Amino acid sequence: MIPAPVPSSQPSDWRRALRNAVTSPDELVKLLELDEAWARPARSLAHRFPLRVPREFVARMRHGDPADPLLRQVLPLASELDDCEGYVDDPVGDLDALAGPGLLRKYAGRALLIATGACAVHCRYCFRRNFPYDKESATRSGFAAALEALRADESLNEVILSGGDPLTLSDRRLADFAREVQRIAHIRRLRVHTRLPVVVPQRIDEGVLHYGVTNMPGAVPRTSTYALSNATLPYMVKLANMGAETAIQANPALAKGVNSYKGKITYPAVAEAFGLAYTPLEELL
Ligand code: SF4
Repeated sequence: MIPAPVPSSQPSDWRRALRNAVTSPDELVKLLELDEAWARPARSLAHRFPLRVPREFVARMRHGDPADPLLRQVLPLASELDDCEGYVDDPVGDLDALAGPGLLRKYAGRALLIATGACAVHCRYCFRRNFPYDKESATRSGFAAALEALRADESLNEVILSGGDPLTLSDRRLADFAREVQRIAHIRRLRVHTRLPVVVPQRIDEGVLHYGVTNMPGAVPRTSTYALSNATLPYMVKLANMGAETAIQANPALAKGVNSYKGKITYPAVAEAFGLAYTPLEELL
């Protein structure tokens, strides 16, 4: 049996990491030994979607390289202000999918909850950067309204906790929520959308593991994550080194896992699940 976590009043490592994130463009370019000119667009974009990046993530970036792929995820560029035809503030239609406070319904059987607007990192590609978190967050009512909606709709079998980043909430809050979800008989899965394990890995501490293990029984989630990463890494290296098309052509195992390519669904089960047309991958290569 796994003992219950003891809530601590001490600020943990991950909370310190969130507080100490780099938010000053000048500091970021200095830390990475970049030309000061890279800080200018970030300063002018601060009022729209400011820079935020944990130091743990900065530490993995290459110095002196403005094209570093990790840096490009977080560094504001002047082109963000360009007007582009067809670009909209809500590209995935979140606002049309609102079915309650902070509750989104897009797919049969599945509900997504906007748990919080807080994030550990501000990703420049974020499709929710303009989402009205101040009005539409399930935590505004302490999850009560969202839980009521989940209980009332027996067609649901899956809940996704999203945001913002739900793992910026305390373990206690996550555990309370998960316990309530577990009591709803028709909900079979609780998924969590998060970037914390990547940008502040110390967030996956004992407390959050307990919240996962005790409330949604699973088979050693941490070990299975290691196993999955070990199994998938060789394919990711191939994709990175060869480019997607060459890697897929060269490796039948990779080709088998392609869900969509060139705007077409290339996996029969995915096409069937979403009621979309299926196109064999070979026709597109
Ligand atoms: S919601 Fe997710 S993708 Fe968007 S800024 Fe936050 S962590 Fe990044």
